[in-house]
Amino acid sequence: MPCSIGGLVAGSVRVSCVTEIKPGYPASRVQWSRDMASEHVDVLIVGAGISGVGAAYHLQERCPGKSFAILEAREDLGGTWDLFRYPGIRSDSDMHTLGFRFKPWTEAKAIADGPSILSYIRRTAREEGIEDKIRLNHRVVSAQWSTPESLWTVEAERTDTGESVRFTCGFLSMCSGYYRYDEGYSPEFPGRERFRGEVIHPQHWPEDLDYAGKRVVVIGSGATAVTLIPAMAEKAAHVTMLQRSPTYIIAAPEEDPIANALRRVLPEKTAYSIVRWKNVLLQMLVYRLSKRRPGFVRNALRKGAVRALPDGYDVDKHFNPKYDPWDQRLCLIPDGDLFETISAGRADVVTDRIATFTETGVQLESGRELDADIIVTATGLNIQLFGGITLTVDGEPVDFARTVAYKGIMLSGVPNFAFAFGYTNSSWTLKVGLLCEHFCRLLSHMDEYGFAHVRPELDDPAMPTKPLLDFAAGYVQRAIDEIPRQGVRGPWQMTMNYTVDAEVLRNGPVTDPGLRFSGAVPVAV
Ligand SMILES: Cc1cc2nc3c(=O)[nH]c(=O)nc-3n(C[C@H](O)[C@H](O)[C@H](O)COP(=O)(O)OP(=O)(O)OC[C@H]3O[C@@H](n4cnc5c(N)ncnc54)[C@H](O)[C@@H]3O)c2cc1C
Repeated sequence: MPCSIGGLVAGSVRVSCVTEIKPGYPASRVQWSRDMASEHVDVLIVGAGISGVGAAYHLQERCPGKSFAILEAREDLGGTWDLFRYPGIRSDSDMHTLGFRFKPWTEAKAIADGPSILSYIRRTAREEGIEDKIRLNHRVVSAQWSTPESLWTVEAERTDTGESVRFTCGFLSMCSGYYRYDEGYSPEFPGRERFRGEVIHPQHWPEDLDYAGKRVVVIGSGATAVTLIPAMAEKAAHVTMLQRSPTYIIAAPEEDPIANALRRVLPEKTAYSIVRWKNVLLQMLVYRLSKRRPGFVRNALRKGAVRALPDGYDVDKHFNPKYDPWDQRLCLIPDGDLFETISAGRADVVTDRIATFTETGVQLESGRELDADIIVTATGLNIQLFGGITLTVDGEPVDFARTVAYKGIMLSGVPNFAFAFGYTNSSWTLKVGLLCEHFCRLLSHMDEYGFAHVRPELDDPAMPTKPLLDFAAGYVQRAIDEIPRQGVRGPWQMTMNYTVDAEVLRNGPVTDPGLRFSGAVPVAV
């Protein structure tokens, strides 16, 4: 059933209170939100990355009566795919699963470069009429929920003018990604100030960096490092990947011959849907096999590396991690490009620890020295959920670390609040698409029964919990005390399985004993 019409109201918003104001709730805040000039939408989406654009598409398709806007802190849309500009920037999952379900990926390369992904997101926003709903240069800083008004009051700052702006909305949909945009993670390296060359973090890549003919040391072993190294090695004198410990690397074809063949004989949408399912199942198979038979997968990955690297190469030292496959994200290399670059002698891998930076490079704990003109610190991201905003619910600040995620989409005790957090063991957007579908079904249900707010409430407060991100990677561990938790059973568990999620989020009921619906729909006058 379609959602009811909710208008966009510019100017003063007045609402009829449908429940009593809680004792102790500051009356001044109620007055404030009534009287301030603000703009009202039914749903306010925060973030215009791939998730925000997808959320907007689902809303306008499935809840055509709902008004919405997207607030985006940056001066352009695209999120990750606009921010990262380092050489070779690309996806590390295939675009048939990273792409939107509703918008076939039609390019020949399944592992796509950053600019192609950005233009796909831009094209989708333009063709689906979403572009006009995006307010660029709007960084959301806080949101205050009022139960009496069934309303979020959202404060944003204009990143271009410094002005403060206010919005009110019935629902807040956080599509703000999972890491800090202003600062990548860089550990303190001893002697860093001594180094006379340039030190660069991939998140802040200087547009004019000239590395032709230079010696480059890339610190790190994750997705960014393995992407950068073959790309930089094309022009650099030599590139060294300096890692403390190895990562699992899996080579996969950059182009998917099945996808490209099917597209020639089948309608675009049919071909896309078949390939998407093929890849979903393949990703699930690799993940499940890694969990059930880690020794088998470890061996297979090791053999792949041995075959691709020169005879006698120390694969066990550089490419055979201590942890099991998929305890941390597997790194994909298209057409084995990293192995090829190493085999050609244009790059090498050093597994060691940094003792200190020196004037001319890096000195290692083994005593070895690496000379460098440029050091790239591919040392990761700083996790930040919910765009760094502060939330209050009826005057009480929300401590995210004390909340428990409901179906991976809402937080216990926080009404009318949804977030888009995708898979870490598969393509991010596969899950986000399902979350968007579920969110629209929830809105329709509320309209059908006249509910104004919905709040997840832990039915068993004694249920054991664990961090929302149950992942061993360093960047996750650094943030573990600040992020929400998850339970040990549904609907409080963060599922990482597409077929289970499809059943629950696409086909399962939207009502649940863990959800409290209340309030009548407020009337804007
Ligand atoms: C280099 C790199 C490569 C990756 N490759 C893959 C891959 O191949 N496959 C995969 O599945 N995943 C990959 N990921 C993970 C990737 O981030 C997600 O797949 C996806 O791009 C996330 O999209 P998103 O829209 O949820 O978040 P983002 O792309 O991070 O976009 C979030 C948006 O929200 C905005 N925002 C944040 N806070 C606020 C605020 N307070 N107010 C207003 N706006 C705000 C940001 O400016 C940004 O535009 C990669 C990540 C990185 C860093």
